[in-house]
Amino acid sequence: MVQQRNTWQRERVRGALSDAQGFVSAQDLHAALREENTGIGLATVYRALATLAAAGEADQLQSPDGEAIYRACSSTGHHHHLICRSCGTAVEIEAHAVEEWAQSTAAANGFTQAEHVVDIFGLCAACTARAADTPAARDL
Ligand SMILES: [Zn+2]
Ligand SMILES: [Zn+2]
Ligand SMILES: [Zn+2]
Repeated sequence: MVQQRNTWQRERVRGALSDAQGFVSAQDLHAALREENTGIGLATVYRALATLAAAGEADQLQSPDGEAIYRACSSTGHHHHLICRSCGTAVEIEAHAVEEWAQSTAAANGFTQAEHVVDIFGLCAACTARAADTPAARDL
């Protein structure tokens, strides 16, 4: 089976993802793996990341500029993220108000098996403090 044959490649992608700081794109991981001469192609990296994300072992997000980015997830099950768009720091959060709102809104419109993706992008406390120190950085 294809999945069996690609297991070692998926493990290498998983390892590279754990080593990465914050969220990374498939291209970032592919570049890191190429330095190790693994011979893993970009398409394989995309497939491995999709598999890990589907299994709940990696977070998949859209970056503000529309690129799919990934991170090894330290929390299993459904959750949300606060992500710093300057340094990439990510915090896993629960959002009970969002869960209730999503369920009730879906139900009110006759939807079942509703899913949602809610992540908050902003500047973390450290980056906010840095931005306040250097007025020029406010344009970030
Ligand atoms: Zn997560
Ligand atoms: Zn930050
Ligand atoms: Zn949720």
